[in-house]
Amino acid sequence: MKVLKFGGTSVGSAQRMKDVSKLITSDGEPKLVVLSAMSGTTNTLVEISDYLYKKNPEGANTVINQLEQKYLAHIDELYATDKWRERTEQFLKEEFAYLRSMTKTLFTSFEEKVILAQGEIISTNMVTNYLQEQGIKAVLLSALDMVRTDKNAEPDFNYIREKTLAQLAANPDYQIYITQGFICRNAYGEIDNLLRGGSDYTACLLGAAIEAEEIQIWTDIDGMHNNDPRIVEGTEPVRQLYFEEAAELAYFGAKILHPTCIQPAKFAGVPVRLLNTMDPSAPGTIINNRMHRGTIKAVAAKDNITCIGIQSSRMLLAHGFLRKVFEIFETYKTSIDMIATSEVGVSVTIDNTTNLRAIVDELKKYGTVTVDDRMCIVCVVGDLSTQNVGFETIATDALKQIPVRMISYGGSQHNISFVVAEADKKRTLQALQNTLFTYNDHIRRPS
Ligand code: ASP
Ligand code: MG
Repeated sequence: MKVLKFGGTSVGSAQRMKDVSKLITSDGEPKLVVLSAMSGTTNTLVEISDYLYKKNPEGANTVINQLEQKYLAHIDELYATDKWRERTEQFLKEEFAYLRSMTKTLFTSFEEKVILAQGEIISTNMVTNYLQEQGIKAVLLSALDMVRTDKNAEPDFNYIREKTLAQLAANPDYQIYITQGFICRNAYGEIDNLLRGGSDYTACLLGAAIEAEEIQIWTDIDGMHNNDPRIVEGTEPVRQLYFEEAAELAYFGAKILHPTCIQPAKFAGVPVRLLNTMDPSAPGTIINNRMHRGTIKAVAAKDNITCIGIQSSRMLLAHGFLRKVFEIFETYKTSIDMIATSEVGVSVTIDNTTNLRAIVDELKKYGTVTVDDRMCIVCVVGDLSTQNVGFETIATDALKQIPVRMISYGGSQHNISFVVAEADKKRTLQALQNTLFTYNDHIRRPS
């Protein structure tokens, strides 16, 4: 069985819901389908919660009423028969009455998570009703019965596998199994979620749990591009990525996939295919266990990076210096993304500057500190293993006109990263594009 996930825009209107329904039923094969909330809904639910945190139930109710009107307006267009119109209208009214009831109680993060869960609960009910009206053997399985996180807020994979297989076994002979992305229970049985954008993660967890033939992530763009198409000319879709390459790219801002979701698919060896709802026959991008030697796949950039340099002669021949430096970041719960060291200095990058001032104050005890903000990390992903001689040189050579603040190579076999000023980002990405993919014959193009 395949697992298919459709994001918010793919179910963003009655027509889109019909299109998705057609797409998942046309070949008659059984599928497990994970849906996001209709686009914009989760943001609106966040807004409602915000009013409630601020003890403004009237503000919350105004937004709830607007959202209800928006949903009720979809009913006429989506359903052909009075029976299913009435059924869905009844369901929506109960849902919105429930949301309104939340404005009358004490509001904590527990209630907030319940509110955030309603977007996926609504979209999955609407689509399941539509499929049933169309005479499709479709059933809605609640993600709240299948997906759970543990005490560290990480997915409890054994539980997920056991419950998902049990739910499928208890509901045999359906063609389409629909479930919610994003939402889950936590270790205490409360309603929770896998963080914003978490529907991809749900799909990958469920796909790994049932050892699916394939996990398909359907969005509104044609797979992953080899560079940022918004600022770089001549980008092309990447047709295949190795799991590790996809993980590097997801982290470095290729926003197509939720960064952590690759891991479960990788461990289970289930390929992940990125596809385009607007152009279903386009090949998209497949992420699998095949590592193509001698190929550079893509370039990606992450903005809002701050570089911190610590120079100290005390570091020379001393041990324990780096530990002291890292402990300061640890104390302020600030994660370091990239590092470069020499015998008398170390530079690190961070993207969370909440505690920057305190960190710098502490670091000054150990050396001379410099801070460069508005930097970005640019990473080149592909075969950058030691054995693949010369590829790091080609990437570095592409940047010969650009001031490079840091370089990191050898952290993994799949990446070389550079830190440059945000002001130089565009020309850095374009230079890499031209050298790695467009004009250079010795870098094989991604297949
Ligand atoms: N609806 C959730 C969000 O907007 C989850 C998702 O779409 O992946 O973040
Ligand atoms: Mg998304």
